[in-house]
Amino acid sequence: MKICYDCGEAKEYSEYCKNNAKSDGLNHICKRCAGVRGQVYFRTEKGLIKRIFHNQKRRSKDDNSKKVKYTFDEFYKWCCGQGEFYRLHKNWVESGYDKHKTPSVDRIDDYGCYEFKNIQLMTWGCNMSKGFKGIVDRVNTKRSQTIMSCNIKSGKVNIYETIIDAKNDLGISSASDIVSCIKGSISHISGHYFCYALISRSKIKSFVK
Ligand SMILES: [Zn+2]
Repeated sequence: MKICYDCGEAKEYSEYCKNNAKSDGLNHICKRCAGVRGQVYFRTEKGLIKRIFHNQKRRSKDDNSKKVKYTFDEFYKWCCGQGEFYRLHKNWVESGYDKHKTPSVDRIDDYGCYEFKNIQLMTWGCNMSKGFKGIVDRVNTKRSQTIMSCNIKSGKVNIYETIIDAKNDLGISSASDIVSCIKGSISHISGHYFCYALISRSKIKSFVK
């Protein structure tokens, strides 16, 4: 057992994260308290900017086209130089940290890199609906990958240019259910399996009337 520095409770060693810098190899605060501290920190202006930056870095690792062309220090200065960031942050705090009001960074051109001429601040909620609108308007073809459906009963396979097309054709109420299906968090929806078709939209146009 070890006493947590924050909550003062005696807890099992498994309740502490490993930390090689400490003499006993464990953090001085328990996992639960570390979570609370982390949440408090990520709600501060600096903590939030750090989180946004790390998310951009993570996304750029998955997708080369999303390169981050600034350092954390440069990004931090950029955020601090905008009244809009403070306004959004204040609204978010006052809303009781409503997820939809979280300040977020949007790439103006979804095909472009993370660079100062291509980013703008907006709430997370606006950012999401912009992305969704892009799919519907077909501006954002990257997020509207071609998909395949398979009817579980009949085995009939269909191919669609976009998730929205599949949603409309099969009468499924939510596009995000199809996404969950593709990602495997649910196995099927409305009697269909879904996966990405890995085929270009222009190729589909050439054989689907
Ligand atoms: Zn604790």
